[in-house]
Amino acid sequence: MTPTATNNGAERQYACSICGEPSTRICHHCTKDACGNHLCEKCNFCSDCCRCEVPLVESNGAEMDLPS
Ligand SMILES: [Zn+2]
Ligand SMILES: [Zn+2]
Ligand SMILES: [Zn+2]
Repeated sequence: MTPTATNNGAERQYACSICGEPSTRICHHCTKDACGNHLCEKCNFCSDCCRCEVPLVESNGAEMDLPS
């Protein structure tokens, strides 16, 4: 068989293992795919592996304000 263009025509594209967003990068630690939102630009680790001081927080939508 001659190598032809694939039907999808897209470059090899990964999907973030955390949120499923299209990703082109992988975690340098666990090598899982991670999108820009879940890959630390400092250490190139996904948010599961990143141990930087500023963790990529995932909003759980339940942010409660303490009543004053
Ligand atoms: Zn993601
Ligand atoms: Zn990782
Ligand atoms: Zn990091």
